[in-house]
Amino acid sequence: MKNPPANCARCPYKISDRLCREEQGKGPDSCPTANLQELTGQSLDEYRTHGDIHEFARQASIQESSGYGNRDQGYEQVRPVKSRIEEIIEFAERMKYRRLGLAFCIGLRKEAQAVEKLIGSRGFEMVTVLCKVGRSSKEIIGLDRADQIDSSSDEAMCNPIMQAMVLNREKTEFNILLGLCVGHDSLFFKYSEALCTVLAVKDRLLGHNPLAAVYTLDTYYRSLK
Ligand code: SF4
Repeated sequence: MKNPPANCARCPYKISDRLCREEQGKGPDSCPTANLQELTGQSLDEYRTHGDIHEFARQASIQESSGYGNRDQGYEQVRPVKSRIEEIIEFAERMKYRRLGLAFCIGLRKEAQAVEKLIGSRGFEMVTVLCKVGRSSKEIIGLDRADQIDSSSDEAMCNPIMQAMVLNREKTEFNILLGLCVGHDSLFFKYSEALCTVLAVKDRLLGHNPLAAVYTLDTYYRSLK
């Protein structure tokens, strides 16, 4: 009988008892560590056979562990020591990148200016591109005026495909997303030739902190459940 699809989010076991942490650990019927061993092998082949991916993964994991202080005092004492923007800069330095892309939302143009200045001051060449680049009408993707934010005039669409193409043409080595909308970010990921990271996601309501709604699901955001 076919196993149910992976659902690690509902794994009933303590972290320290899980099969994905311990060889003798436990997993539910849906456990992908137990059920999908061929994918473990296939995924590891990707690291083994692609030198660039191997190095990217290696540096990402070094970056991860370097984000904790007090490691010499045992696991219970570790604490976070780096903000995400520091991590992005450090990671780009570890990878020896010189040319970085920044794809940002018009609503975060002030933040983009600050980020460009900061990262640029660390010796990187920055190529930055705003979501409305190309000034193409939303009519092109089938929207009428009623679907626009402001129906009083023709509105420029966000064009994440062009954002990616601009950065691809400039041969950026690593692209940073800043505040792209849900779905626009997806298209950017699909069309970007360079690997990407996200400095911040768009959440207009919650100051670009979507987890605020998740943290308050039992209280102020209970109506979502
Ligand atoms: S991989 Fe298996 S053991 Fe690990 S969280 Fe997912 S279901 Fe649980």
